[in-house]
Amino acid sequence: MAKKFVRAIFPGSFDPITNGHLDVINRGIKLFDELIVAVGRSPIKNPLFTPEERVEMIAELIADIPGVSVESFDGLTVKYAAQKKADVILRGLRSLTDVQHEFQLAMTNRAVTGIETVFIMTSEQYGFTSSTLIREIASLGGDLSNLIPENVHNRLKKRLNK
Ligand code: ADP
Repeated sequence: MAKKFVRAIFPGSFDPITNGHLDVINRGIKLFDELIVAVGRSPIKNPLFTPEERVEMIAELIADIPGVSVESFDGLTVKYAAQKKADVILRGLRSLTDVQHEFQLAMTNRAVTGIETVFIMTSEQYGFTSSTLIREIASLGGDLSNLIPENVHNRLKKRLNK
């Protein structure tokens, strides 16, 4: 029997993308034929970058990873998944707190449309990396070089110097 082609979406705010997200993308594409990183356009608290800027930074980072693409989306993740004919939603897990929240999301999404969510557990070194923490450390002038890619670091420095 021919192997089924599997398309996954990796939805999130990615404000900004971190090394933790990038790790999930690099490991995720090994499980699927195609992976679309999907930047949600819904408003978040104190955003640092516009959805367009977030997409641009991600595009620079995934340019050399075959099978991975990026775009932004509006509205419900499950609607977007259906529109892209995605088989799977990919999400990352860092902690038990993540599990609780993600469990609820995944159950709801499956109940509504039947779509499955696949989880990748963080690599230990990124277990505490979150976009929220990045925004906080950046605003206080801390060193972020191990937590975010260089292109994000450069944009962040420019943004905060303004
Ligand atoms: P959202 O606002 O939808 O949670 P995020 O951009 O914060 O969007 O995260 C997108 C996904 O990436 C979530 O599933 C989140 O748990 C996961 N994630 C974030 N940081 C990490 C990390 N360091 N390691 C593994 N997964 C992560």
